[in-house]
Amino acid sequence: MKGIKRRDFIKLGLTSGALMALGSSSELLTKTHGKRDTQKKVLILGLDGMDPHLLEVWMKQGKLPAFQQLWRQGDFCRLGTSIPPQSPVAWSNFVTGMNPGGHAIFDFLHRDPETYFPKFSGAETLDTKSSIRIGNLVLPLLGEEVRLTRKGRAFWQTLEDYDIPATVFKMPGNYPPASTKQRTLSGMGTPDLIGNQNTFNYYTTEFTEIKQDIGGGAIHEVYIAENKVETSLPGPVNPFKKDRTESSIDFTVFIDPVNPVAKIAIQGNEFILKEGEWSPWIRLHFRMIPTQSINGICMFYLKQVRPEFKLYVSSINIDPATAALPISTPKSYAEELEKKFGPFFTKGLPADTKALDNNVLDDAEFLQQDDFILQERLAMFEYELQRFDSGLLFYYVSSTDQRQHMFWRHIDKYSPLYDPKQAAKYGRTIENIYVEMDRMLARSMEKIDKDTVLIVMSDHGFSPFRRSFNPNSWLKEYGYHKLINEWRQGREDLFMNTDWSKTKAYSYGLNGLYINQKGRESEGIVNPGAEKEALVREIAHKLESFRDPQTGERPVLRAFVAKDVYQGSYVDEAPDIIIGYNQGYRVSWSAPLGRVPKEILEDNTEKWSGDHCMAPEIIPGILLVNREIKAESPALYDLTPTILQVFGIEKPKEMIGKPIF
Ligand SMILES: [Zn+2]
Repeated sequence: MKGIKRRDFIKLGLTSGALMALGSSSELLTKTHGKRDTQKKVLILGLDGMDPHLLEVWMKQGKLPAFQQLWRQGDFCRLGTSIPPQSPVAWSNFVTGMNPGGHAIFDFLHRDPETYFPKFSGAETLDTKSSIRIGNLVLPLLGEEVRLTRKGRAFWQTLEDYDIPATVFKMPGNYPPASTKQRTLSGMGTPDLIGNQNTFNYYTTEFTEIKQDIGGGAIHEVYIAENKVETSLPGPVNPFKKDRTESSIDFTVFIDPVNPVAKIAIQGNEFILKEGEWSPWIRLHFRMIPTQSINGICMFYLKQVRPEFKLYVSSINIDPATAALPISTPKSYAEELEKKFGPFFTKGLPADTKALDNNVLDDAEFLQQDDFILQERLAMFEYELQRFDSGLLFYYVSSTDQRQHMFWRHIDKYSPLYDPKQAAKYGRTIENIYVEMDRMLARSMEKIDKDTVLIVMSDHGFSPFRRSFNPNSWLKEYGYHKLINEWRQGREDLFMNTDWSKTKAYSYGLNGLYINQKGRESEGIVNPGAEKEALVREIAHKLESFRDPQTGERPVLRAFVAKDVYQGSYVDEAPDIIIGYNQGYRVSWSAPLGRVPKEILEDNTEKWSGDHCMAPEIIPGILLVNREIKAESPALYDLTPTILQVFGIEKPKEMIGKPIF
């Protein structure tokens, strides 16, 4: 009973000597919640964004033999996603067995009705001034405490009650990791060392129109003097300085006068890169006060030496060996992986889609980076698979999602960016990642025994994103949103130009629309009750009827009224309307942050050309199981009680889903 041994160890590690004195009998350590079925195991592959249509096509073409075999042995169907189908929302449905009304993650962005400012929905940073103390520096970083905003219990916490071990690898939206003794590593939502979702640095001699905020990184103009570039790498804000200045590390690049080679010297570390070469992980120590530093890791990529110098530095990831922020439970899990594999990607979504969108990395370079991520992920999977002998293993892959976002333009002839030459070169990128996942599945099927329930799932599918919709501009056009200065339309974020005294509705985030409600919003004008109810229905109806003059299509397929589609204790905190876009449409890039552009509709000319923030019926996820699926149309929140049922645990009453077997 190897599993029990590990379990005992975990428990004993966290209890006092009293339990040790009782001996190591598992009966004594098991709580009284119920009996567990020790034989059964559950292995879940969470393949973000894997699309059922593409999967089916390639299965039928014989390109995905392992998927096909699993389909034949068990079952395959479409998996209902969340409203809205954004990853943090969708995975939270799966984690809690509830919908957003229960777990309170409604969108990437929430808003504060007091200030009308956006709030990042995953983690909350609490300014605990008292913890900025010299005696207590290591944790939490910058003297601030981070807290998970997702409500409800995660299924691995319930498993823990019944003494069933679980390893949960990079579950999206689980940062900081929910409190547990189970092995968990945080994923999507985990910031870089700067505290952002992405912060690349790009150093070049090429004249670039330096945009103040390109979103996701910074471009630095540098000069070469005597074959040397002297510059610096920005780090986290220093909380110990009164003005909270940015920390930074100076570094020098020595350029070979003849060959396309350069030597980089940073903090006593020296390494040589050829043009087109990536460095291994480089450790950085940002000095905060003489005795304390915050540690990060990053990769350098020498893009070009001549005629223009171009050097890319990846986001500085939290160093898993000495994590400055909580990235795993127990804390030693991240350290254990680091000992085994060396430094690894800890940032939530590691692939630098922003660098690709800003032409800092090209398609090939982005894929090189994503391949590092994928290879690391596969190696760690092998490690976890080898020691998986009891309970549950959930393993997550992000490359499926990221590659579809960025390379959809190469398989979509109607994409504004479609280029047949590029398509010939990169048109197979998405297929290739499905093939990689097929290999991963094959490894899983080799390893498991007959008592293991194997679930392969995705949180949503994919759709082209060709045209973008500006909900705030639409609201303005229809008289629901008023500006202070008409001529300033489209220039400001965060509704800085909005006249709240005359505004009835506004939109924040990727799918949310809010009524400016009296008593809730600080400058609300719409009375709650019948007046608001009528307005919500009116706007929802008009949104669904609106047509794109250029294509004749309806950009908004469904406008969901929150209280019709959500259940749970947090329905009141939801946006009033959740916009479900039609195939090919999504919210624009500027609207989520409170901008009111001049046009209601625009072409999407970003390389980010595939998306999933549409109506859920357009983009279901996948579900493959090595058992027969009895449920009519299973959804993400049905998998949670299914997992518990496998282990003989009755579902908690707050879960809205039903077991699928
Ligand atoms: Zn995605």
